[in-house]
Amino acid sequence: MSLPPCPKCQSEFVYEDQSLLICPECAFEWNPQELAEESAIKVKDANGTLLAEGDKVTLAKDLKVKGSSLVLKIGTKAVVRRIVEGKDHQLDCKVDGAGEMMVTAAFVKKS
Ligand SMILES: [Zn+2]
Repeated sequence: MSLPPCPKCQSEFVYEDQSLLICPECAFEWNPQELAEESAIKVKDANGTLLAEGDKVTLAKDLKVKGSSLVLKIGTKAVVRRIVEGKDHQLDCKVDGAGEMMVTAAFVKKS
């Protein structure tokens, strides 16, 4: 099992002590689970609602699919499979009738 580097000094000599990870170089101690929650990517839908992986959403506007003549109509249902960091196309969605594609969070509404 490999441990993540220290979030403060990026040291790779981190060791585990029960539920905490400890950095021997800067003496920083942290709980990797809490850190994971804090650093989770926060992405909001058209109404400003936070989205999470597994959420069901509907499209808030018609979306033209890049590189095809396909247009996804407003109200089309989708499931958020993965959230990635970025200015747009943050949602890796499975869209009804269209399959998997990246969708901008501001163009969907949580349903
Ligand atoms: Zn450190």
